[in-house]
Amino acid sequence: MQDCIFCKIVQKEIPGKVVYEDDQVLAFHDINPVAPVHVLLIPKQHIPTHFDITAEDTKLIGHLHLVASRIAEQLDLGEKGFRLVSNCKEYGGQLVFHLHFHLLGGRHLKWPPG
Ligand code: AMP
Ligand code: ZN
Repeated sequence: MQDCIFCKIVQKEIPGKVVYEDDQVLAFHDINPVAPVHVLLIPKQHIPTHFDITAEDTKLIGHLHLVASRIAEQLDLGEKGFRLVSNCKEYGGQLVFHLHFHLLGGRHLKWPPG
Protein backbone atom coordinates (compact mmCIF):
# COMPACT_ATOMS: atom_id res chain seq x y z
CA MET A 1 0.00 0.00 0.00
CA GLN A 2 1.29 3.46 -0.91
CA ASP A 3 2.56 5.60 1.96
CA CYS A 4 2.70 2.67 4.39
CA ILE A 5 6.16 2.53 5.91
CA PHE A 6 5.97 -1.20 6.64
CA CYS A 7 4.81 -2.00 3.07
CA LYS A 8 7.86 -0.04 1.92
CA ILE A 9 10.09 -2.23 4.10
CA VAL A 10 8.41 -5.32 2.58
CA GLN A 11 9.05 -3.93 -0.91
CA LYS A 12 12.67 -3.06 0.08
CA GLU A 13 12.00 0.57 -0.81
CA ILE A 14 13.32 1.52 2.60
CA PRO A 15 15.83 -0.57 4.55
CA GLY A 16 14.98 -2.82 7.44
CA LYS A 17 17.26 -4.93 9.62
CA VAL A 18 15.53 -8.17 8.67
CA VAL A 19 15.81 -11.15 11.02
CA TYR A 20 13.33 -13.45 9.25
CA GLU A 21 11.47 -13.53 5.95
CA ASP A 22 9.21 -15.93 4.11
CA ASP A 23 6.42 -15.50 1.57
CA GLN A 24 3.90 -14.37 4.21
CA VAL A 25 5.79 -12.80 7.09
CA LEU A 26 8.64 -10.36 7.61
CA ALA A 27 10.45 -9.70 10.91
CA PHE A 28 12.90 -6.86 11.47
CA HIS A 29 14.48 -4.95 14.32
CA ASP A 30 12.51 -1.97 15.63
CA ILE A 31 14.23 1.31 14.76
CA ASN A 32 13.64 2.59 18.31
CA PRO A 33 14.13 -0.44 20.58
CA VAL A 34 12.64 -0.36 24.08
CA ALA A 35 14.26 -3.63 25.18
CA PRO A 36 17.52 -5.45 24.36
CA VAL A 37 15.50 -7.50 21.87
CA HIS A 38 12.78 -5.58 20.02
CA VAL A 39 11.70 -7.19 16.79
CA LEU A 40 8.58 -6.36 14.78
CA LEU A 41 6.70 -9.15 13.02
CA ILE A 42 4.36 -8.18 10.20
CA PRO A 43 2.25 -9.95 7.62
CA LYS A 44 3.54 -8.95 4.18
CA GLN A 45 -0.01 -8.23 3.14
CA HIS A 46 -1.30 -4.81 4.23
CA ILE A 47 -3.77 -5.31 7.09
CA PRO A 48 -4.25 -1.97 8.91
CA THR A 49 -5.47 -3.13 12.36
CA HIS A 50 -6.75 -6.18 14.20
CA PHE A 51 -10.25 -5.17 13.16
CA ASP A 52 -9.28 -5.79 9.53
CA ILE A 53 -8.25 -9.42 10.07
CA THR A 54 -10.64 -11.70 8.20
CA ALA A 55 -11.42 -15.41 8.48
CA GLU A 56 -9.08 -15.98 5.51
CA ASP A 57 -6.20 -14.55 7.55
CA THR A 58 -6.40 -16.93 10.51
CA LYS A 59 -3.73 -19.29 9.15
CA LEU A 60 -1.46 -16.34 8.43
CA ILE A 61 -1.83 -15.00 11.98
CA GLY A 62 -1.16 -18.45 13.44
CA HIS A 63 1.91 -18.78 11.24
CA LEU A 64 3.15 -15.39 12.42
CA HIS A 65 2.91 -16.55 16.05
CA LEU A 66 4.84 -19.72 15.27
CA VAL A 67 7.53 -17.61 13.60
CA ALA A 68 7.62 -15.36 16.68
CA SER A 69 8.53 -18.21 19.01
CA ARG A 70 11.14 -19.53 16.55
CA ILE A 71 12.77 -16.10 16.38
CA ALA A 72 12.63 -15.83 20.17
CA GLU A 73 14.52 -19.12 20.46
CA GLN A 74 17.11 -17.96 17.92
CA LEU A 75 17.62 -14.72 19.85
CA ASP A 76 18.21 -16.63 23.11
CA LEU A 77 14.90 -15.79 24.74
CA GLY A 78 13.96 -19.44 25.20
CA GLU A 79 14.94 -19.70 28.85
CA LYS A 80 13.78 -16.35 30.26
CA GLY A 81 10.87 -15.75 27.90
CA PHE A 82 9.55 -12.74 26.08
CA ARG A 83 6.49 -10.58 25.44
CA LEU A 84 4.54 -10.48 22.18
CA VAL A 85 2.24 -7.47 21.96
CA SER A 86 0.22 -5.62 19.39
CA ASN A 87 -1.14 -2.10 19.75
CA CYS A 88 -4.54 -1.43 18.20
CA LYS A 89 -5.73 2.07 17.26
CA GLU A 90 -5.60 5.17 19.43
CA TYR A 91 -6.02 3.80 22.95
CA GLY A 92 -3.76 0.86 22.18
CA GLY A 93 -1.04 3.29 21.11
CA GLN A 94 -0.87 2.21 17.48
CA LEU A 95 1.32 4.54 15.39
CA VAL A 96 1.87 2.47 12.25
CA PHE A 97 -1.34 1.26 10.64
CA HIS A 98 0.02 -1.98 9.22
CA LEU A 99 -0.65 -4.86 11.62
CA HIS A 100 2.45 -5.73 13.63
CA PHE A 101 3.52 -7.57 16.74
CA HIS A 102 6.32 -6.39 19.01
CA LEU A 103 8.58 -9.21 20.20
CA LEU A 104 10.25 -7.85 23.33
CA GLY A 105 12.84 -9.58 25.46
CA GLY A 106 16.21 -9.49 27.17
CA ARG A 107 15.02 -7.76 30.32
CA HIS A 108 12.32 -8.21 32.95
CA LEU A 109 9.29 -6.35 31.58
CA LYS A 110 6.81 -4.64 33.88
CA TRP A 111 3.10 -5.39 34.04
CA PRO A 112 0.62 -3.75 33.67
CA PRO A 113 1.88 -1.49 30.87
CA GLY A 114 1.38 2.26 31.26
P1 AMP B 1 3.12 0.96 17.21
O1 AMP B 1 3.05 2.08 18.21
O2 AMP B 1 2.71 -0.36 17.80
O3 AMP B 1 2.39 1.30 15.93
O4 AMP B 1 4.66 0.78 16.90
C1 AMP B 1 5.27 1.15 15.72
C2 AMP B 1 6.72 0.77 15.87
O5 AMP B 1 7.35 0.88 14.60
C3 AMP B 1 7.51 1.67 16.84
O6 AMP B 1 8.08 0.86 17.87
C4 AMP B 1 8.58 2.30 15.95
O7 AMP B 1 9.82 2.47 16.61
C5 AMP B 1 8.67 1.30 14.81
N1 AMP B 1 9.14 1.83 13.54
C6 AMP B 1 8.70 2.93 12.89
N2 AMP B 1 9.35 3.09 11.73
C7 AMP B 1 10.23 2.06 11.64
C8 AMP B 1 11.20 1.67 10.66
N3 AMP B 1 11.41 2.36 9.54
N4 AMP B 1 11.93 0.55 10.91
C9 AMP B 1 11.74 -0.16 12.03
N5 AMP B 1 10.83 0.16 12.98
C10 AMP B 1 10.09 1.26 12.79
ZN1 ZN C 1 1.30 -1.66 4.85
